[in-house]
Amino acid sequence: MTRFYDTARWQKCRRMQLSRSPMCEACLTKPAKHVDHIVPVSRGGDIWKSSNWQSLCQDCHNAKTAAERTGRTWTPPKHRGCFPDGSPRDPAHPWYTGGGRSITASPALTPARDPQNSISYQK
Ligand SMILES: [Zn+2]
Repeated sequence: MTRFYDTARWQKCRRMQLSRSPMCEACLTKPAKHVDHIVPVSRGGDIWKSSNWQSLCQDCHNAKTAAERTGRTWTPPKHRGCFPDGSPRDPAHPWYTGGGRSITASPALTPARDPQNSISYQK
């Protein structure tokens, strides 16, 4: 059986993707050598859908594959750390999605004014 990645059809798709996006999309610093399936085929990702492809360098591809094998979530280097203004580079960070704690939303720091939702301290 011919391996999927050796098929002429995939080789053509691979060339297309690498010419469209020649730099690694994960670290943005190195030339890409691999066309990676963003959602792995083993987890139901579409093999042939170009929206499920990303160009990766050797290092990023190795790191992502290793993370997938052990069930970890891999954060691409471009999404690590912060921008100069202190906001996180990761677009999925709770900072952007509202999932994180903020001072104004914290019940511990907000005096209870709503009588239905307050705890009485004056007993
Ligand atoms: Zn890379």
